[in-house]
Amino acid sequence: MNLIGHIKQQHFFRQTIAASQLSHAYILHGTQGIGKKQFAIELARGLLCPERKIFKPCDCPSCTQVIERAHPDFYLFDDKEGLSIENVRNVSEISGTTPYSSKYKVIIFDNVHIMCQASAAAANALLKTLEEPGDNTIFLLVTHKLDRVLPTIQSRSLKVNFDPLADKELGQVLATIDSSKDWKPTIKYAQGSVANAVALSDLPIERLIQCIDKRDLAGFGTIFLALSDKDTLIPVIGLIQSWFLSKYKGNLKPEYALFIQYMNKVIKNLDYNVNMPLVLFDFFTKLEEVV
Ligand SMILES: [Zn+2]
Repeated sequence: MNLIGHIKQQHFFRQTIAASQLSHAYILHGTQGIGKKQFAIELARGLLCPERKIFKPCDCPSCTQVIERAHPDFYLFDDKEGLSIENVRNVSEISGTTPYSSKYKVIIFDNVHIMCQASAAAANALLKTLEEPGDNTIFLLVTHKLDRVLPTIQSRSLKVNFDPLADKELGQVLATIDSSKDWKPTIKYAQGSVANAVALSDLPIERLIQCIDKRDLAGFGTIFLALSDKDTLIPVIGLIQSWFLSKYKGNLKPEYALFIQYMNKVIKNLDYNVNMPLVLFDFFTKLEEVV
C-alpha cells in the first residue's frame, strides 16, 4: 500500500538518506492511529531495497519480503512479547551482527512506551543497545505517548513528530479499510486519526452532538452510558471537548475550562485499568452539572 500523508516526514528522511546522515535511532511520535507504524515499515522497506525506492512502490524480492515480514534484516516488534526483556536482549545481539543481504538492519519497536511502563529491565536493556549500536543498524521506535518513553532513550534517539492526517488523507486511508462505507460523518470528528474514525464509525455521533447542542441529557445518556470500551470513549470525549472549544471560543467560562481539564484527566486515567461503568457515570454526572 502506498503511504498516505506525512509528506514532510517523507521529505526529511529522503534528504537524510541522500546526505548519508542517518542516525542509529529515531522516535516516531504523534497521535494514535495516524500511520506511524506503517510509515516506519515503509521507511524500512526503502532502506533495505537494493533499488533504493524510498517511499516509492517497488516489487523487488527485498521489498516483498519486508511486506511479508520475512526479510532477514527486518525486525518488527508490535506485540507484547516483542517488548519483553528476553526479546530486547536478543535484539541487542542482532544489532551487533552484520546485515545478511542489505546495507542495513532495521529494527522497529511499536508502542515502545508500553515497554518503558511495563518493564524497567527491558527499557534499560534497550537503552544499553542504543548506547552501543551496531554498525548499519537503524532503530525505529514508534509511540503515541512520548512522555512515557524513558528520557534517556529519548536523548539517544532523534525525534520525528507526526501530525494528524488531513481530512482528505484520512478519507483515503479509510476508503482502503472499507470503500463501501460512508465515512464522512466520522471524519469530521476523528481529529485526523484512523483509530478514532474506526472507533466512532459505529456510533450515532451526529445524534450525540445534537443532544449536547440541545442540552438533551437523556438522549445523550442513552448513547453515552452504553459505551463499553476505552477505544471508543477516548474519541467520544475528544469530540465533546472540541464541541465545547468551538462553541465557546473566546468566551470559555471557568466551569467549562475546568470541565475540559477534567476530560483530559479522564483520558489519561483510561490508560490504566479502570472501571468503565464508574468512569461513564462520573463523567455523565459532571456533564449534567456543567450543562
Ligand atoms: Zn525494492
